[in-house]
Amino acid sequence: MDAIALYPSPAIGHLISMVELAKLILNQKPSLYIHIIIFEPPYNAGSTAPYINKVSATIPSIIFHHLPSVTLPPSVTSTCRHHESLTFEVLRLNNPNLQQTLLSISNDYTIYAFIADFFCYASLSVTAQLNIPSYFFFTCGAGFLSSILYLPTIHRNTNKSFKDMDTLIHIPGVPPMPAKDMAKPLLERGDKAYQFLLDGSIHFPKSAGIILNTFDSLEPRAAKAMRDGLSVTDGPTPPLYCIGPLIVSDDRSSGGAVDQKPECLSWLDTQPSKSVIFLCFGSLGLFSVAQLTEIALGLERSGQRFLWVVKNPPCNDKNMAIPEESDPDLDTILPAGFLDRTKERGFVLKSWAPQVAILNHDAVSGFVTHCGWNSVLEAVHAGVPMLAWPLYAEQRFNRILLVEEIKIALPMMESTENGFVSSSEVEKRVRELMESAEGNWIRKQIIAMKNDAKEALSEGGSSRAALSKLVESWKLK
Ligand code: UDP
Repeated sequence: MDAIALYPSPAIGHLISMVELAKLILNQKPSLYIHIIIFEPPYNAGSTAPYINKVSATIPSIIFHHLPSVTLPPSVTSTCRHHESLTFEVLRLNNPNLQQTLLSISNDYTIYAFIADFFCYASLSVTAQLNIPSYFFFTCGAGFLSSILYLPTIHRNTNKSFKDMDTLIHIPGVPPMPAKDMAKPLLERGDKAYQFLLDGSIHFPKSAGIILNTFDSLEPRAAKAMRDGLSVTDGPTPPLYCIGPLIVSDDRSSGGAVDQKPECLSWLDTQPSKSVIFLCFGSLGLFSVAQLTEIALGLERSGQRFLWVVKNPPCNDKNMAIPEESDPDLDTILPAGFLDRTKERGFVLKSWAPQVAILNHDAVSGFVTHCGWNSVLEAVHAGVPMLAWPLYAEQRFNRILLVEEIKIALPMMESTENGFVSSSEVEKRVRELMESAEGNWIRKQIIAMKNDAKEALSEGGSSRAALSKLVESWKLK
């Protein structure tokens, strides 16, 4: 039986887009079996079990395998300052389990290709041993991939950390990037996360191809720069397959109840067309009570209708976003009287929202986002303009791309070095997006991009063609 194996990073944003990739591949080649190998994340990365259960129950040719959990010794966890480093550490330790699982799958199936999330590059040594052609799936944008492929070149040309540079970094196909806006785990050269990503940047070009969740007309300059070989400077660039945007078709299954219409969607039904701004900050975006207060005051003064997802504030002191499991007590973390004063025009949702459904609701006309790449693509796919408020990972980098290059977002600007945003900035930017001529211009831009996305995914479109090319490259019998 013909099969391929996928190795996603278990963080919800990464996992869901990898499973969506599996569905697309199956549409192209229905006779294939797709084995998805999951490892347990070293932190709470969002509840993926309902989503996995639903896919398992409805698509028998997608088969999930769960690797045994690996416990990191305290000597390792205490030296990891970013959640990305924890994932890299767990992955390294998981290689024997991965090898075992691939061998046992091989008893019944011929594995034609292995597609690893870009976090999982440590798996390349396993698949090389087993002679399975390996591809990477990059769940971020082409601009960010260009920066990663170019990292060894930057690394050779300086011995400074990005956080200590006051210059612009010139990356092929990307607007000049302030050094401090490079991805958070890259800011300190001595940090483990930097070393891991640098190591990854050397592995990626050795793969049989890199699959990107983006589409050519969203990031034409970055895609061209990489294909022209400008980003990998010391060897060939593997084929790039821009097959996005991959969007989850029914995201209610990734959160709570599947059958009931969520209350927030019923609330949106009662709101005027194109009147609501939606605020949601990904699976890991957390704010202190002080920051939640500024957001609340800014929203209140903006006079706009809003739908806001609020999570519990962080309770650790390591600046690592690890959300609490429990729902927040809104009365204690939001300003006194706020919920009551705004109840006619605001809806506050605890912990998790059916984001895709919300973005596609007719009442929604703006999105305050942390700039996680899936959220960006979901906004593009729905044609909803963004206010870019980056928090972690490569999100500051994405803000520059969205505001200066693709021009589908306005920036939310921090008032302090540590990222605090004042209520007056929230008020000003929310109004700007929802009411100003500039906001309207951005809205028109993203609606044009929505149409481009549709075209890329349609028969004969660039993303469909890239997917066919990818599947053909496996030379299935
Ligand atoms: N998401 C959601 N509801 C929430 C928060 C997030 O459905 O309340 C989904 C969102 O639609 C997206 C994913 O979780 O598909 C988050 O991925 P993204 O890349 O935007 O951010 P990350 O969480 O990886 O930082």
